[in-house]
Amino acid sequence: MTAGRVLVLGGTGEARDLAGLLVADGVPVTSSLAGRVARPRLPAGEVRVGGFGGVDGLRAYLRERAVRAVVDATHPFAERIGANAARACAVDGVPLLRLARPGWTERPGDRWHRVPDLPTAAALVSDLGARVFLTSGRQGLGAFAGDATTWFLVRTVDPPDPADLPPRHELLLDRGPYRREGEGALLDAHRIDVLVTKDSGGALTVAKLDAARERGLPVVVVDRPQRAAVEQVTDAATAAAWVLAR
Ligand code: NAP
Repeated sequence: MTAGRVLVLGGTGEARDLAGLLVADGVPVTSSLAGRVARPRLPAGEVRVGGFGGVDGLRAYLRERAVRAVVDATHPFAERIGANAARACAVDGVPLLRLARPGWTERPGDRWHRVPDLPTAAALVSDLGARVFLTSGRQGLGAFAGDATTWFLVRTVDPPDPADLPPRHELLLDRGPYRREGEGALLDAHRIDVLVTKDSGGALTVAKLDAARERGLPVVVVDRPQRAAVEQVTDAATAAAWVLAR
């Protein structure tokens, strides 16, 4: 068993799974959440909420709490915190592991359009259809705000900034996991002809891709941003083993 505290940078299902495994193994663990979601699902063990104050703030936190190892289990699209963790851990020699679920892969019958970012997705959707199911999340929604011709079904966990919403939309507040039947019913009820998603990966929100494939709908998939090059694993059990080996 490891001595000292482990910091899990969280906000994902994998981070919750890892915290649960570490607590069960008797490892002192603190999970850190950014505080973006009003009522987050909380992991086992100690939880802190809010930013650290950049690289320097994170370094100070690691020192004050005598953190022995950090697991960056943040969402694949949370770019900044990953870079901050890589920097802070490198400077102070704190072991860092990246825990990230694999991205989704295209399957037979899929009609995917991979794009590098949300503005490119926004530029593409009107060429693909008139009614869009937009599931890319609250952040970055503003990329679609200037599209006055397309109709959007916008699904987010918490309400977005109204200024980020496109003029023609319906807002659906919901949180996964989602099932294929439900996702299919949503696509049919709203006569959706294009789906937009980030390549978040994982099982909790994959059902929309299955439902789109069944209906032959085009899907705009936003690629993951580049992250700092750190040792990486794809599941919580392997991350827990890494911690226990330290
Ligand atoms: P981000 O752009 O990488 O981070 C922005 C700032 O938020 C960071 O510089 C940091 O502030 C703070 N922060 C982010 N994650 C934190 C954490 N786990 N604990 C403490 N502070 C954190 O991140 P984001 O895209 O806004 O995402 C925020 C959180 O939501 C992440 O924890 C992520 O796992 C979760 N999430 C994100 C997405 C997404 O699509 N981006 C989707 C689902 C969940 P300081 O510099 O002050 O430390």
